[in-house]
Amino acid sequence: MQVTEIYKSLQGESTHAGLACVFVRLTGCNLRCTWCDSEYTFHGGHRMTSDEIMADVSRLSPGGGLVEITGGEPLLQEREVVPLMQRFIGQGYVVLLETSGERSLHNVPGEVIKIIDVKCPDSGEGGTFRVENLNHLTVKDELKFVLASRADYDFACDFLRQHDLAKKVNAVLLSPAFRKDATGARDSSHCLLDPQQLAEWMIADNVPARLGLQLHKFIWDPAAKGV
Ligand code: SF4
Repeated sequence: MQVTEIYKSLQGESTHAGLACVFVRLTGCNLRCTWCDSEYTFHGGHRMTSDEIMADVSRLSPGGGLVEITGGEPLLQEREVVPLMQRFIGQGYVVLLETSGERSLHNVPGEVIKIIDVKCPDSGEGGTFRVENLNHLTVKDELKFVLASRADYDFACDFLRQHDLAKKVNAVLLSPAFRKDATGARDSSHCLLDPQQLAEWMIADNVPARLGLQLHKFIWDPAAKGV
């Protein structure tokens, strides 16, 4: 597999936010979201075998724990990443898979918790979610919408209602997009959509979703990598 980095930090997003987690960040993405903070994963990286990845993760989190497979888009390397996830499960890890949902989720092992980042219009990649992937959602999975505007919020609310998603997954998260060049202050001034504004819309509309903030960007410098 082509790997950009493997590191241990706190999970910053999803209902697992705040928990220690090992991140396996794979190289390459077929999308180009306008606010992407992971452009350094588009190219480069280094080849690693499954054994080498397992060894790194075992060293960072011996005997189990939380491991997230992320990118880039990890399912671009599906042929190798599916068996890797099965190995992690076999060794007692709780496995999170972060994906845009543009690739088929059909072969993702049932034990894996999928965190699917459905792209909204202002990402520049709206419409890339593969609708048949809704058939592969389980009650363990989570859907995330990263929002940069009211138009994105309206899209997310319509999508949720249209597919009755709150009943199909563990959580739906609405998360303000961060400026991709954010650095310095660890506060919400870097958000493209003010979290307070988003909170007020969600309260007014009684949206069946929870507001998500990228916790790691409030703990470390928003530009920091490997955290
Ligand atoms: S899918 Fe993720 S890694 Fe790819 S461009 Fe969008 S935000 Fe960046």
